Amino acid sequence: MRMNYKYEVFPNKEQIQTLDSWLSICRQQYNSALLDKQRFYQKNKTGLSRTQLQKQQKADKQKIPLLKTVPSQPLQEVFFRLERAYKNFFEGRARYPKIKKYKDYNSLTFTQFGVEKRHVKKKTGEVKVSAVRHAASLDENNHLLISKLGTVYVNFHRPLEGKVKQVTIKRQGHRWFAIFSVERHVNETVEFPVQSTGIDVGIQKFAVLSDGTTVENPKFLLKEEKKLQRAQKKLSRMKKGSNNWKKQLQKVQQLHIKIANQRRDFLHKLSFRLSKTYQFVFVEDLMIRNMVKNRHLAKSIHDAGWGAFGNMLAYKCNNNGGKLVSIKPHYTSQDCSGCDERVKKSLSVRTHVCKSCGAILDRDHNAAINIEKAGLAFLGLCPTA
Ligand SMILES: [Zn+2]
Repeated sequence: MRMNYKYEVFPNKEQIQTLDSWLSICRQQYNSALLDKQRFYQKNKTGLSRTQLQKQQKADKQKIPLLKTVPSQPLQEVFFRLERAYKNFFEGRARYPKIKKYKDYNSLTFTQFGVEKRHVKKKTGEVKVSAVRHAASLDENNHLLISKLGTVYVNFHRPLEGKVKQVTIKRQGHRWFAIFSVERHVNETVEFPVQSTGIDVGIQKFAVLSDGTTVENPKFLLKEEKKLQRAQKKLSRMKKGSNNWKKQLQKVQQLHIKIANQRRDFLHKLSFRLSKTYQFVFVEDLMIRNMVKNRHLAKSIHDAGWGAFGNMLAYKCNNNGGKLVSIKPHYTSQDCSGCDERVKKSLSVRTHVCKSCGAILDRDHNAAINIEKAGLAFLGLCPTA
């Protein structure tokens, strides 16, 4: 299975100039190949193939030195893109390929990656194993090493896992990203440190696990959200359309983006950790629907980003060979996790106190244990000590 991991990269000024120039050369190659294909078709009533285009490019390289400034992989990959564009058109998925403008051409793909051991046959007939470094690879400092460009720092905000097959460098506005395409084998047997956990989504806390671990709402997010509230209030007092209003609007929008990014990052890290630790993660089904009845609660859940989190978690568990299982909510916060006695309590009661078995524990912790128990029962599994 192919997976894509995206990270921000930080080329220096000179490297940005180089990348911009490579993009523009690749774009020209794309456009002229598109025109060549059209002309060729008109004349010969048959298509011009990717291999023919590549041959042409090879010949052009001898005449046009500028072409040689671009590493050959992204330069050749241009024709794969064109081929794909035609295929999508013929199979009814897209319109006829168009000439690409500056803003339409923003990425370079290196179709091979890393360092590979190869058997090289020498002139003497002797076969030797030698390491071949592709035009794109990671160096010993985990920086991206690209031939004719140098090393570029990558912000690996979450781990890159699996064998990298190719990398695409992408320009987005003023920022640059590297998208690593990775081959993952989903069915390999994975050792999990712990068999299972139940998760109860909190209100004050982000979540509580059945072993009692509490995941707090990240403080930096609360801080940024307060900042956003203040900025929005300030905006609402300004004259709509005025210069100050426009400036403030931009501030508000930037804060929104920042918060969304930080939240996503937090959720990625948390779901990653959970998917690596537990083979089965149990959550309550319809959690959102049940709680949306209460508007105040709905806001908290929305803020906690539970929906996005559930998706990430399901996806990551799956990729890692585990499973996210949702169970039907059934008095999970009322029933005693120790003896199953029902202990009715309102939402404001934060502690579970059982008179029949003497259990005293945090309300959400009690619920998380019940969720895990229900999940295990559903799968016909036993809890591990
Ligand atoms: Zn009890």
